Amino acid sequence: MYIDPQKNNQVRKLDIPGIHKKENMSEEHVRDDDGLTAEQREQHLTLKKLSEQVRASEREKEARNEQQQREAQSSDGSQAKNATPVMRGKNTSGKYCLTDFQILRTLGTGSFGRVHLVRSNHNGRFYALKVLKKQTIVKLKQVEHTNDERRMLSVVSHPFLIRMWGTFQDAEQVFMVMDYIEGGELFSLLRKSQRFPNPVAKFYAAEVCLALEYLHANEIIYRDLKPENILLDRNGHIKITDFGFAKYVPDVTYTLCGTPDYIAPEVISTKPYNKSVDWWSFGIYIYEMLAGYTPFYDANAMKTYENILNAELKFPPFFNADAQDLLSKLIERDLSKRLGNLQNGSEDVKNHPWFSEVVWEKLLSRNIETPYEPPIQQGQGDTSQFDRYPEEEINYGVEGDDPYADLFKDF
Ligand code: AMP
Repeated sequence: MYIDPQKNNQVRKLDIPGIHKKENMSEEHVRDDDGLTAEQREQHLTLKKLSEQVRASEREKEARNEQQQREAQSSDGSQAKNATPVMRGKNTSGKYCLTDFQILRTLGTGSFGRVHLVRSNHNGRFYALKVLKKQTIVKLKQVEHTNDERRMLSVVSHPFLIRMWGTFQDAEQVFMVMDYIEGGELFSLLRKSQRFPNPVAKFYAAEVCLALEYLHANEIIYRDLKPENILLDRNGHIKITDFGFAKYVPDVTYTLCGTPDYIAPEVISTKPYNKSVDWWSFGIYIYEMLAGYTPFYDANAMKTYENILNAELKFPPFFNADAQDLLSKLIERDLSKRLGNLQNGSEDVKNHPWFSEVVWEKLLSRNIETPYEPPIQQGQGDTSQFDRYPEEEINYGVEGDDPYADLFKDF
């Protein structure tokens, strides 16, 4: 075991002062600036558009919070007590419904719902049940992404990707039944450890590399690579979860999505993009594991975008030469030069000297000692590696009118 994560050092948000920043750019600056090249002007306009999008999404978030507060207030009162939820889901996949499971604690929350640990009433096994609220999905314009997530998860099969067993829905929610991965998030381990030693980062990078290679070979781009979306199984191997942005893209796409620190410059510039974006994020991911922070971070998302487009990539002195070389080739703005996006695809990444000691076939068969085994004491339903989340009153299995029925037919 290479790492000994220190306790009590977990933070949910990066808050790293003193990251190298390019000069600030306010909207006034965008409006008043003269003497710009056409490319600079285009970049400024893109940033302005992004700023509007960031604000719009902040407004949406605010609206969502207000709605949640209203819901919480009314659920304190009589309304929820009078409601008699029928604990039965519409089983559109013909495989599962809500009464198949006993709902236990919350494992995590996302923007549109939460993930519960559940236990099957039939085989006694534990699963993760991801629950997404239809109304929120619609409000945040994520219908296509949610259907893509279901579609992608139902087709992929790889040792380092989460397995989905089935889906169902009720009048208000969609549900996805997945394997429960007991070891918790790589993100938590990274925050506890602050940063990973070179061989540890290399292990977690190599397993992700194989997963990306598989997805890309199947024309799927993942688009949201980050330590929060990587879980560790009980032996310490990775499982990539959250396919909310994964998409089948045989040619190119344009959608602006991802997590600010990890977004590739071609996505910010609203240029057509493809698998290239995952290799950029892969570089950011390795950088974050080795440094403990991402290279273009700023508390202001707009500045992060600006840094991604313009800032020089700098390395802490303790990064070794091979790591610096690999990262400067992955975190490469020129798509025609970015490693992973060249003629030999993922082979170029796997053959890079930083990965020289990795035996890829052995790794794929998980026939390799992992750097860290999550300290799971109990059996399969152990949740000691997950943070505690406040539990809400559950209102699943709702029957009745479903204004969104047409939008989630596949569930
Ligand atoms: P997601 O919305 O898919 O990003 O999930 C939110 C959080 O729930 C994740 O960050 C994990 O902490 C947890 N989670 C999601 N899927 C699983 C799973 N299959 N097993 C265990 N925990 C999970």
